[in-house]
Amino acid sequence: MAASEEAPAEAPERVAFRAEARAFLEAHAEPRTEADPWEVVGFPDDDEALAHFEKCGAWQRTLADNGWAGLTWPTEYGGRGLEAWADRIFARESVRFGSNAGFIRASMAMLGPTLLALGTEEQKLRFLPPMLRADETWCQLFSEPGAGSDLAGLATSAVIDGDEFVVDGQKVWNSSAQFCNRGFLLVRSDPDAPKHRGISFLLIDMTSPGVEVRPLVQANGSAHFNEVFLTGVRVPVANLVGELHGGWGPARMVLGNEASFIGGTGGGRRTSDRLIDLARLFDRQDDPVVRQELVRAYSRERISGLMGRRMRDVIRQGGPPPFDPALMKVFVTDSKVHTGQLATSIAGPAGMACPSDDDRIGRWVQAEVINRYTISIGGGTTEVQKNNLGERSLGLPREPRSDKDIPWRDVPRS
Ligand SMILES: Cc1cc2nc3c(=O)[nH]c(=O)nc-3n(C[C@H](O)[C@H](O)[C@H](O)COP(=O)(O)OP(=O)(O)OC[C@H]3O[C@@H](n4cnc5c(N)ncnc54)[C@H](O)[C@@H]3O)c2cc1C
Repeated sequence: MAASEEAPAEAPERVAFRAEARAFLEAHAEPRTEADPWEVVGFPDDDEALAHFEKCGAWQRTLADNGWAGLTWPTEYGGRGLEAWADRIFARESVRFGSNAGFIRASMAMLGPTLLALGTEEQKLRFLPPMLRADETWCQLFSEPGAGSDLAGLATSAVIDGDEFVVDGQKVWNSSAQFCNRGFLLVRSDPDAPKHRGISFLLIDMTSPGVEVRPLVQANGSAHFNEVFLTGVRVPVANLVGELHGGWGPARMVLGNEASFIGGTGGGRRTSDRLIDLARLFDRQDDPVVRQELVRAYSRERISGLMGRRMRDVIRQGGPPPFDPALMKVFVTDSKVHTGQLATSIAGPAGMACPSDDDRIGRWVQAEVINRYTISIGGGTTEVQKNNLGERSLGLPREPRSDKDIPWRDVPRS
């Protein structure tokens, strides 16, 4: 397997591409510093959070301006029209550098392939090039106070008035919405249809009158999420993606892309490298149980890396997922639970005491533990992903759904 994986990279065009990528990165990207491996992203200070977002945007613009964004996207939408191997080589070369587009890359991975597959020609020409350059940055406006796991129960309403929708409602948990100038939004456009069949998918301008973004401050002081209130917001009908009332299709595509992206981020060797460093720092590298668990962490990382690679290759080329994206998300979430437990068991009390700001390693251990919750909830909870797997992949009996075929407006809501 290793031979056939590496063999294609030996083809002359790939060797040349790798050299070109390396030269670009060496000229433009920040080198990875010694401190980076223990870096915990999350900013209690709003100015720092904004500065980080802008830095990610600047890197995305550098990529776009030099022909390194949207490597597999068609050239007419600003991409480079290459095959999946190009993305893979570039990702591998990028590992040695500190620059990355962070959240902007994540939202692009969710919306980009969805627009490529389901957007109109006008939408692709209008929205994809500025997305690639981060001139327009996108937040996901799906969850509501009464609709998270049961997303299809969402209540934010959209009524057509001439050539515009008028949108009223509230969204919540919207990552980085305070920094984004665009949003992809799910609305209830037909309350008389059963819940999955009366939803539309809209692209909105976050600077429109009637959009109010309120950051939600977490216990650690940072505001990763927001509430977004929409009052009489006017959205051109031209910004409808897919069919009117047929928004569940694009929504599922975004969620699949999101699960694949979250799952695929487990592919690097960073966490197992850090755990090995941690074992050395705490003199636990000869402990047979620790060694066994380090091998397990490494093996799981390799497996998720290979799964992510297979999934991304197909999605980049616009194909259907080769397996249920829920599988990857559940696997990576379980890996995160394992690495969090391993990190605390290696660090012992040092990983549990409240770390000072300059205790980078203590903060990293705590983040490893906390992130298991982030990853197991964001993009659909583990329980819901397991339901999806059981029903879609294993063909198990479906959960009883008493509200499936009745009009949404008659479904009891709290
Ligand atoms: C880091 C992060 C980033 C996020 N970013 C965004 C974003 O950018 N945009 C956005 O719109 N949303 C975002 N979310 C919200 C996320 O999609 C929701 O939190 C998630 O879908 C769960 O919804 P909920 O919080 O309403 O929980 P609920 O749906 O209320 O679930 C509560 C609990 O009940 C369980 N449960 C619910 N239904 C079932 C069932 N049928 N079977 C078994 N168990 C069930 C759940 O697993 C969970 O444990 C983000 C969340 C996180 C953690």
